[in-house]
Amino acid sequence: MNLSIDRERLVSEVEALAKISEAEPPVVTRIVFTQADLRARAWVIARCKEAGLEVRQDAVGNIFARWEGSDSAAAAVGTGSHIDAIPNAGKYDGVVGVLGGLESIRALKQAGFHPKRSIELIIFTSEEPTRFGVGCLGSRMLSGALSAESAARLCDANGEVLDEVRLKAGSVGDLESVKLAAGHYHAFVELHIEQGPVLEREGMPLGIVERIAAPASANILIEGAGGHAGGVLMPERRDALCAAAELVLEVERAARATGAPDTVATVGICQVFPGAVNSIPSRVHLTLDLRDTDLARRDLVMAKIARASKAISKKRSVSMGTELINADAPADCAPEVVQTLTDSCREHKLRCLPMVSRAYHDALFVSQIAPMGMLFVPCLHGYSHRPDEYAAPDDMARGALVLAEALARLSR
Ligand SMILES: [Zn+2]
Repeated sequence: MNLSIDRERLVSEVEALAKISEAEPPVVTRIVFTQADLRARAWVIARCKEAGLEVRQDAVGNIFARWEGSDSAAAAVGTGSHIDAIPNAGKYDGVVGVLGGLESIRALKQAGFHPKRSIELIIFTSEEPTRFGVGCLGSRMLSGALSAESAARLCDANGEVLDEVRLKAGSVGDLESVKLAAGHYHAFVELHIEQGPVLEREGMPLGIVERIAAPASANILIEGAGGHAGGVLMPERRDALCAAAELVLEVERAARATGAPDTVATVGICQVFPGAVNSIPSRVHLTLDLRDTDLARRDLVMAKIARASKAISKKRSVSMGTELINADAPADCAPEVVQTLTDSCREHKLRCLPMVSRAYHDALFVSQIAPMGMLFVPCLHGYSHRPDEYAAPDDMARGALVLAEALARLSR
């Protein structure tokens, strides 16, 4: 099969989509179900239809563009990513997987390939958590990791609930219908920019993901007692910030103690109340972000942090409350999909690096209902979620080429 990717078309489509934004170019801001997002969706749907794909949307706005296979009853092969973007983002996050996926399908058609299994390009709704506070909204619902009932109640900063927002945006149907049955997809591959510096540093054109790390995150509220910085003597103090400081170091210690490079823990927010130079901190809000590729190890670290928090709270007579925000399981990519991607690289004489995805992706949730794999292309300096995010045309084209090869192999 003579596969050829139209690199210029891919680049010009990435540029065209980037112009559909709430912010001035080169900044891309496309929050789910805003005017910019709706225009971008319409634009992508038009491109899919031009390519001869049949387009449907589910009740939460996930878009499926289907190339019917000769065995239309057989489980389909899926690929895709997202087009929503956080405020002040760049052009490539998610988009490379959507437009690169479309380009792969065009290349397969051009080469005269006829799939046995149908091939579906999926544009997932709201991979970014910006509006409703939950990342991977569409893929979470597809996989059943988020129930229709909980999703319907999600609320944005203006107090609008998802169930109303999605209807206003033109989505129809019952949210219950979004969940797909296990076995709906024979396999799923997501093409994405790496969002890290490894491929560039190693001089590798492609990365094949073997595992996706997943975060557990929590809010921690510490309450002690405030008072005058001069009036309250040291033995009387129940300083919330001192307790927080001890906990932050325990978080670091617990993550280091596993000895595994994949265990990472971060306290990224520390808000001190009342925050005055002459006032003892009475309350502190911390956030915890704990990631690992191994769920059992992550749970152990979490338990260790919980024990430390209990001990510190007792010792310092402060209360420490932990509210878990999410705790998604990491995922292993399916060995057969990893093998197909590896073989596809070899077929086109491209080197590839096995790697761990340290960022979250829709593929993490799709893995709960289908054998999943991910293909990474390099991005300049590992920059992502910023306007100067950049993936080189040749790198995107190589990604689309290997994806096309893999889709062909998986859909035969
Ligand atoms: Zn992304």
